[in-house]
Amino acid sequence: MNLQFKLASAERMERCVLCGRMTDVPVSRPVTERTHYVDGAGELCPACFAEVYGVSELRWITEPAAL
Ligand SMILES: [Zn+2]
Repeated sequence: MNLQFKLASAERMERCVLCGRMTDVPVSRPVTERTHYVDGAGELCPACFAEVYGVSELRWITEPAAL
């Protein structure tokens, strides 16, 4: 078992297009099943999504694995 193979096979996660923070959304997840995906822009983290859209989803920051 070599480490490089394990890293390569691990699921990659999306990064927020605004702040660059790692989200909990796998790259392979269809955009239709994503909560913070912005058409034409990309994936946002909950904090940036809340800031852009003015919705109160800040609770997600403290509960990243809740959904
Ligand atoms: Zn962000």
